[in-house]
Amino acid sequence: MRIAETEASIISDGSFLLDGGTMFGVIPRPLWARACVPDEHNRIRLGLNCLLVRAPCGPVLIEGGIGRSFSGREAEIYSVSGPCLGEGLAAEGVKPEEIRYVVLTHLHIDHAGAAVAVDGMGRPAPFFKNAAYIVQRQEWLDAMENYGVMKSSYRPDVLGAIEEGGNLKLIDGDFELAPGIQLILTGGHTRGHQAVIIKSGDETIIFPGDIIPTAAHLKETYITSYDLFPMDTLRAKREIISKAENARAIMVFYHEPGEPAGRIELDNDESLISARPINSTIKEVSIWDSHRRGRSGSGT
Ligand SMILES: [Zn+2]
Repeated sequence: MRIAETEASIISDGSFLLDGGTMFGVIPRPLWARACVPDEHNRIRLGLNCLLVRAPCGPVLIEGGIGRSFSGREAEIYSVSGPCLGEGLAAEGVKPEEIRYVVLTHLHIDHAGAAVAVDGMGRPAPFFKNAAYIVQRQEWLDAMENYGVMKSSYRPDVLGAIEEGGNLKLIDGDFELAPGIQLILTGGHTRGHQAVIIKSGDETIIFPGDIIPTAAHLKETYITSYDLFPMDTLRAKREIISKAENARAIMVFYHEPGEPAGRIELDNDESLISARPINSTIKEVSIWDSHRRGRSGSGT
């Protein structure tokens, strides 16, 4: 579905479950549980909202979904469900081999999992075989060293397939991918995490990745426990919110389980804590209503 009058569409890779407490860091459960109601295991359902940009240079995909490669205990824990990325692209009339660039904000499995699929020989290979996978060099180096507190965040089979496929393009710092598509090194969630700013027609779209994973995380102190450098997340969040406000930008929240896109506005209070989404794009993303209805039976 198109976002407002832009050349961008949100393509879902379904949803999955994560521990609610970890997603909201130091925030007490009674506060975050109002926005995201946890299940009996304290898990909340999160979206996987990739963004397809129909740029003049060719189709650009922001984020690579989570994929469907989990088995056993992991499959049980994450409980991935709903439509998958390939189906969503097909519904938009885009074939995987037509994608020119895949921008990965970082390489955690829930952002890169569907960018790799098993090929005809039964081996993992890049799903978007003609695309350059755009990753910050710092992120790649950290992923190869499995730098982080969660040892299962990076998956060697996914990283290996991207490298061996020859699809990897490493960048250093802020980078203009194509006219109107700017990549910003944010750090924070991981050292090499990047956000994306897209100018499309009269609109600006900001994709903050895991710096602001859901609309609830617009609040300053709502920073996940997965963030390796929370003070950098805070700084990046302030800059992104300020940019979004100045440009009246549409924000797309990758893990938002509800409406994935919206403009933000600030309350009269000078603090940013009161930032909240405006569902100005509800009409354009109305297809999400049916997705959410489908999801509500299996999660939050
Ligand atoms: Zn994530």
